[in-house]
Amino acid sequence: MASVRANLPAVVLDSYDHGEADKIVTFFCQGIGRLTTIAKGAHRSKKRFVNKLELFSFLQISYSRSAPGNLAVITEAELVNPFLSLRSNLSRYHAASILREFILLVTSEKLNDDHLFQLSLWALHALDTGVDQKTVLALFLIKLYDVIGYRPDFLQCRSCGKHYPAQAPAVFSPRAGGLLCSSCLPDHDHSGRQLSPGTIQMIISVQQQPLARLNRIKPSTVNLRETLDCLYRYGRHLFQKDIHSWKWLGSS
Ligand SMILES: [Zn+2]
Repeated sequence: MASVRANLPAVVLDSYDHGEADKIVTFFCQGIGRLTTIAKGAHRSKKRFVNKLELFSFLQISYSRSAPGNLAVITEAELVNPFLSLRSNLSRYHAASILREFILLVTSEKLNDDHLFQLSLWALHALDTGVDQKTVLALFLIKLYDVIGYRPDFLQCRSCGKHYPAQAPAVFSPRAGGLLCSSCLPDHDHSGRQLSPGTIQMIISVQQQPLARLNRIKPSTVNLRETLDCLYRYGRHLFQKDIHSWKWLGSS
C-alpha cells in the first residue's frame, strides 16, 4: 500500500545525479531518521527542485512510497534554510563535511532520534552563522556521543572508579571510554590523550548543558585542541573507522 508523508523537516546529507533527469538524495529527517529518495525529473522541473536539493540544505519535504521497501519519491521540497555559506565558504564546507561524516556514521533508516536531529541542525546553523568552526565541532562531538548512548566518562577513573581530582591533568583512553588515573593507565595503551583540568571541566560542563545554552560556551584554543583530538580518537575506536574528512580540520 502506498504511503505518503508531507512537510517533513529534513537535511540533505547526500545528493547525486541518477541518469539524465533524476537525482538520488539522502536526507536526515526529523521523526524518521535517514531517508534515501529519488527526485524524479530534478533537472527538468526547475520550479519544484532547483537549488533546493543541495548538500546541507534544510528543507521540508513531502514524499510517497509505492510499497514498503521501494525507494521513496520526493513530491515536494520547500527550503527552510539553504545554509548557503556551508557550500560557498571553504573552511565552513570542510567543517560541515566532518559533521556530515559523523551524522552518516550514526544514522540509519528507521532509526528515529529527535535529539540527534536537533543537534545536527544546531551545528549546521551555528557554522552557517559564523560561530568558530572548531568550537562547533567540539561541542557537537561532546553532545553526539551523549545522544547516541556512548557518553565518555570524565568524572572518575574508568578502571578503579576513583573520583577524578579536579585540579589534576588526566589521560583520556578511547578504549576505556573515559579517564584513567595514572596507576590504572596500562603502559601499552598509547592511544590515550593527556587532558588539562580546564579541558575536562569544559567537557563536563558541555555534557550537562542543554543544546539551547551551548552558544554561550567559548572554549580556549588549548581546550579545543585537546577536546577535538580526544573525541576524534574516541570516534575512530567506537566506529572502528577512519574519519576521512578529519584531515581538513586546521588545513583551512
Ligand atoms: Zn584508576
